[in-house]
Amino acid sequence: MEKKCKNKKCQRLLPEGYKHKYCENCRNEHVKRIKDTGKAALGVVVLVGGTALTIVTKGKNKS
Ligand SMILES: [Zn+2]
Repeated sequence: MEKKCKNKKCQRLLPEGYKHKYCENCRNEHVKRIKDTGKAALGVVVLVGGTALTIVTKGKNKS
């Protein structure tokens, strides 16, 4: 069973037994961003919040 990077823009195949959801490349990007902002939690919130925002926006369009 092949595992892919959770980043939809990336989708790189992860090596067998790889313990992370994101590939090495994406993880490095995350670390860079976290270091830039200085807030580790913010990176996660932005990542999850972006998806939630898309759903909310779609729902509002119905009315
Ligand atoms: Zn990736």
